[in-house]
Amino acid sequence: MNGLQRERLRAEAEMRGQAALEQALTVAFWDALERGPLPPMAALEAAARTVGTLYRQIASLHGPAPRCGCGWQPEPDEDLIRLEAMLAAALIERHRPALADLPVQGRA
Ligand SMILES: [Zn+2]
Repeated sequence: MNGLQRERLRAEAEMRGQAALEQALTVAFWDALERGPLPPMAALEAAARTVGTLYRQIASLHGPAPRCGCGWQPEPDEDLIRLEAMLAAALIERHRPALADLPVQGRA
């Protein structure tokens, strides 16, 4: 296997991992709203705050003295710009036929 193939496999595995995580978070979000409805922006604020908390937690497992060996060095300012860009892109995304984007309905 050459480097290009290895990189492609790594990228595909990362995309599958992201899709699985997005689906899990989406299901958890809609499940929580079914149990206790919230005003839409209050629900989204909680979700955004949770992303920030997750960032702080996962960053603490890496820098400044790396413990996991993956090579990531948290850069909160740069990472925030990247996360904001993802948020903005998702907000204006017109059509993305992904199951994870749909509210869960008719669950037992
Ligand atoms: Zn790491």
